[in-house]
Amino acid sequence: MDMKQYISNAIERYTEIPSPSCSERKFLDYLIANDFARIKNMSVSSEKVLLIGDSKNSKPLFIAHTDRIALSDQVSIYRDDIKITGQLDNTLSIAILSYLVNKKDLSLNILLTTQEEICGSVDQITETIKQMTFLEPIPVVLDVDIYPDEESPCITYSPLKPFLSTVAITKKSQGWHISEAGFVYRYANRQAIAFMGIPISNLHSAKESAYWESIDMARKMIEQLVAQ
Ligand SMILES: [Zn+2]
Repeated sequence: MDMKQYISNAIERYTEIPSPSCSERKFLDYLIANDFARIKNMSVSSEKVLLIGDSKNSKPLFIAHTDRIALSDQVSIYRDDIKITGQLDNTLSIAILSYLVNKKDLSLNILLTTQEEICGSVDQITETIKQMTFLEPIPVVLDVDIYPDEESPCITYSPLKPFLSTVAITKKSQGWHISEAGFVYRYANRQAIAFMGIPISNLHSAKESAYWESIDMARKMIEQLVAQ
């Protein structure tokens, strides 16, 4: 199964399970029992799940929020060879991680958070980073991002810029933005943290749409980070 098909199927599966902010439990349980069942070392709390991969040098901690905004429209997933459309915030990031764990056999450290859409995830991230001193994790927030306009620089912010520079980012369709990561940086004693945003159009609607090219770029960048 190729990446496009795997990711479309995963997002379709996720879309079946409602996950509004503060009611993510069912979706979290589904993810750890299915998509991330291969990662045995996990710490589950009422609001977040930390999954620790096997590799000792797998330092990045990939962070993805599991809540979705409630929509009045019915969500359906459409894809062609260029784009995927549906409710992609933040099922898309989770589907990429699932693909890498299950199809590329990558051993990843993953933090699944809740309540991001109501600004509740920042404390979960800072708390987890503080507790993870044994791994010295480099946190990388994975999320969707607003589609950048002509003037947007490709990377607007990242304390990890040199670390990330091995991957060329040249296309307008691939943008970077600061959000949740910025709050963690500000409030957690200048904790170094990166944000990887996959540009989408129609943010916070049932027709959020992303280019496969951007998705593949994010996939490659995660692989690069793990290989460092
Ligand atoms: Zn999001």
